Amino acid sequence: MGWMKKRMVLSYQTHTTNVRLVTEEDAGKGIVKERDYKDIDGLITNVPGITLVTFFADCVPLYFLDPVHKAIGLSHSGWRGTVSRMGAVTIDKMKEAYGTRAEDLLVCIGPSICGDCYEVGEEVALEFKKVFANQNWNQILREKDNGKFMLDLWKANEILLKEAGVKPENIQTTDICTHCNSDYLFSHRTCGNERGNLAAFLSLKE
Ligand SMILES: [Zn+2]
Repeated sequence: MGWMKKRMVLSYQTHTTNVRLVTEEDAGKGIVKERDYKDIDGLITNVPGITLVTFFADCVPLYFLDPVHKAIGLSHSGWRGTVSRMGAVTIDKMKEAYGTRAEDLLVCIGPSICGDCYEVGEEVALEFKKVFANQNWNQILREKDNGKFMLDLWKANEILLKEAGVKPENIQTTDICTHCNSDYLFSHRTCGNERGNLAAFLSLKE
């Protein structure tokens, strides 16, 4: 029953760190009802049976479950979201709304582009160097001979989730890259704008 379309709630992603607190009255928004919001890259709820939905094609899906307060979160974290600490922002929102403690959270870093596929320019690398401590740079960035960098968004998200207080053993990181597997997953880097989208779903059982 939780998968019923009329109880889905869709994000309206624009690479922000805005998180919407989803309530019963949002059920169906973006799927059977118009969304009355914009610029929403994260969704949180404690309403059982509402299914949160966000979209991806290389960017990182972050799934959050607070089993103590029975609340969930789902966020879209591309390089812009990651450098703006979207994972930590989502946790803060859950803290504020539900009393969530980071140490109780189970978090999953979902299928997205891997560190061997994601080449970025120096300007993006510099943004990460501003936000992450020096000792983390070599885990996140690998400089290439052509002046570009390979960026590991999985590692970057892992680091910032740990910094936010999530226990390392409660973070599950995917080993599925959208670009390495573009024969069956949509990848922006592979297909450009001529592509579909992957969706992430998260729901509390009714
Ligand atoms: Zn890859």
